[in-house]
Amino acid sequence: MTQEPLFTRRADIFARLAGNQNYDIAIVGGGATGLGVALDAAARGFSVVLVEAHDFAKGTSSRSTKLVHGGVRYLAQGNLALVREALVERTTLLNNAPHIAQPLAFVMPSYKWWETPFYGVGLKMYDALAGKARLGKTEFLNREEVLGLLPSAQPDGLKGGVKYWDGQFNDAKLALALARTAATYGALLINYCNATELRYEKGKVAGLVCEDTLTGQQYKINARCVVNAAGVWVDELREKDGASVPGGEIKPTKPMVAPSQGVHLVVDKSFLGSDVALMVPKTGDGRVLFAVPWLGKIILGTTDTQRKDLELEPLALKEEVEFILNESARYLRRAPMRSDVKSVWVGLRPLVKAPADDGENTQKLSREHTVIVSRTGMVTVTGGKWTTYRSMAEDVLDMCAENSLIENRNKGVTKHLALLGANKTGITLRSLSLPPGLHSYGDEQSLVTSLNGANAVICEGLTVAMVRFAARYEYAITVEDVLARRSRLLFLDARLASDVAAKVGQILVEENNIDPKISQFLELAERYLHLPV
Ligand SMILES: Cc1cc2nc3c(=O)[nH]c(=O)nc-3n(C[C@H](O)[C@H](O)[C@H](O)COP(=O)(O)OP(=O)(O)OC[C@H]3O[C@@H](n4cnc5c(N)ncnc54)[C@H](O)[C@@H]3O)c2cc1C
Repeated sequence: MTQEPLFTRRADIFARLAGNQNYDIAIVGGGATGLGVALDAAARGFSVVLVEAHDFAKGTSSRSTKLVHGGVRYLAQGNLALVREALVERTTLLNNAPHIAQPLAFVMPSYKWWETPFYGVGLKMYDALAGKARLGKTEFLNREEVLGLLPSAQPDGLKGGVKYWDGQFNDAKLALALARTAATYGALLINYCNATELRYEKGKVAGLVCEDTLTGQQYKINARCVVNAAGVWVDELREKDGASVPGGEIKPTKPMVAPSQGVHLVVDKSFLGSDVALMVPKTGDGRVLFAVPWLGKIILGTTDTQRKDLELEPLALKEEVEFILNESARYLRRAPMRSDVKSVWVGLRPLVKAPADDGENTQKLSREHTVIVSRTGMVTVTGGKWTTYRSMAEDVLDMCAENSLIENRNKGVTKHLALLGANKTGITLRSLSLPPGLHSYGDEQSLVTSLNGANAVICEGLTVAMVRFAARYEYAITVEDVLARRSRLLFLDARLASDVAAKVGQILVEENNIDPKISQFLELAERYLHLPV
């Protein structure tokens, strides 16, 4: 393995694909799940190719609430094994990517006398379950202590509260760190490359056909094992696979995913005025609501609304926006208004339905995620959460080995595998609550500053050199790739992102000479500003 950053020039990537079409594992989907599998498999010495139809983390994986967490709500359901596993993975992630995943203190204010002891005991149990993976001590707070930590909390009726610890992260940056680290182990990762068909030999899946969505050029890939990690879209490939069964009556493939959408609103930091997050354990609809300080702004969210369609860019519903604003107003001294919202973004949860009754081998393991192997040998994984991407990847590779698709090899190599940028020596780590900047690059900062335009500031937290870095080493092609997922400006301030789009596009053309799709980005940014009436 080399620690030198690898160039991500598109022409070189496709030349490599054309030169070698034989892989141990071919992965469909470049979100948390697929990228986690790619890194685990590549670090174990397997040859790996991953195709992503859009950009890495364009799907759900850039739209999370940005929490690295054990799942307090699973505690309430008594699913202790699940919480314990996620708490261990929480610490693994914070250790392996400290520049983009860090501990965060949360305060849960109480407005009823019973809330502090009731939730406090639960959160003490959360601590106990974490054991050595504990990030800090859960503390009972009186009214003054709550207001000391969260001066913006609604003081009327405040009785006290509980402080506890979890983590936060930069989800899309983590996705890119996984992709780039997997590449250093020899994996070939390709964005804007759609898996259009599966390929079969003697009734078994033996690879796929993919298409460069920028040129229309098609490529064949042969693989011993095909992993469908397409998030909420896994059923599209499963349907194609189901229809492939030769002879006999074909039962329609039963969908695995029941999508549910979650909305986030971003407002100015002053609404919270603290580096500590606010957690509301039970909103009017029985959910958990967070106000999280993130990259210089506050994320308010989220909702849980069932959907039937699978839009790539889902829009928030009026009721969801109103719900978040109304609930926030109950707990914050100054209520955020619609006009305060700087960006609104929506993610689709890949919630897994009851296991399909169509002959598939299902591994449920009382987890949030499910791994299935079809009759033809295609492995599908979906569900779960970002926090547990690494243990999900291990489950997938276990399942591949159990089904003799690949051999069982070196499990656990990613447990202590630092991701690119994670070397702490000689760099100062800065909180993810602070506005973005050079520090987000961890130990790659000097590489960024060595590029042309290091002092040419486009806007706060974004320089010309950072755009060049994104184009050269982070697979960025379009303005959206840079402003949504390398920098997170679209998620933080969609208006400002629009304002700088042309400048970013101009640098991308200089670097890649590929259309950076400026006008499409401007339309997208309007959607991130759109609050339904
Ligand atoms: C609102 C919300 C909040 C959340 N908050 C948290 C949180 O705070 N902490 C946490 O740990 N988890 C959180 N999660 C969960 C977490 O974000 C998801 O579990 C995770 O991102 C799912 O990743 P994925 O790779 O399975 O799916 P995705 O990220 O959607 O990736 C699937 C990819 O497959 C690609 N694809 C589809 N079809 C094809 C094809 N034919 N060819 C090639 N590519 C294809 C898509 O373009 C997509 O990029 C949250 C989820 C939501 C919705």
